[in-house]
Amino acid sequence: MFDFKKITQSTDLYNLHTHTQFCDGHANMEEFVTEAIDLGFTHLGFTPHSPISVESPVNMSTESVKDYFDEIERLRRLYGDRINLYASMEIDYVSVGDGPSSDYFSNLPLDYRIGSVHFIPDIANPSEMIDVDGKFNGFKARMGKNFNGDIEYVVKSFFSQMMAMVDEGGFDIVGHMDKIGFNASQYRDGIDEEPWYDRLVIDLFENIMDHHYIIEINTKAWLQRNRFYPNLKYFGMLKRFNAPVVVNSDAHYPTLINSGRLEAIKLLNVL
Ligand SMILES: [Zn+2]
Ligand SMILES: [Zn+2]
Repeated sequence: MFDFKKITQSTDLYNLHTHTQFCDGHANMEEFVTEAIDLGFTHLGFTPHSPISVESPVNMSTESVKDYFDEIERLRRLYGDRINLYASMEIDYVSVGDGPSSDYFSNLPLDYRIGSVHFIPDIANPSEMIDVDGKFNGFKARMGKNFNGDIEYVVKSFFSQMMAMVDEGGFDIVGHMDKIGFNASQYRDGIDEEPWYDRLVIDLFENIMDHHYIIEINTKAWLQRNRFYPNLKYFGMLKRFNAPVVVNSDAHYPTLINSGRLEAIKLLNVL
């Protein structure tokens, strides 16, 4: 059994959210391993975007899953005496039964699983799933094309997808739980400060706690955008309820493997 507590409650350097050549990462797995060893990391978990039922250029194909596990094994043989390497995936929640809880993912020999939402239903044609996770320019275009400019629909759909994912289970770590806030607040300034928005985050947090999942503090956007997921303003709540957390950089480049992590850990500790 994968021991999160042991990893997160020590002072060891770790990152459990890493994208490589198997999805949209910008370097291969071995480059991340050598960088991690150079920086003194003890634990490194790989999380390619999982195979998915909808059209997505970002996600890995089912055909490459075996190669992925083979590469982990090869790297463990080469570097396993210097660093602990874990095989995981960032599994997309798409719809009921199509997400981390599916038989397909349950049967994969993963060390742990991250569950994330990147897609929500098109407003007029709900069977079509639309990516709301990418860069703001693309998001803005889809706001017009797929959502009639209805930003509240987009935010509410994101959180209802998250809630459904948490209810269905099949994963260990909740990935970037309020990430929609970043694109949404660029589309409508201050939306993530509105009470109804706050309520959605808190309801999700309570549901996660009821299900005893680990909450990721995702630090990918901290240095460039000054934003953590969940937002810094929720760190006090995480502490108050003693939520189990992991602090991950969601790195797509080896040089960013520790980006924002120490800042988040420090902020968590002083609250
Ligand atoms: Zn993600
Ligand atoms: Zn990711």
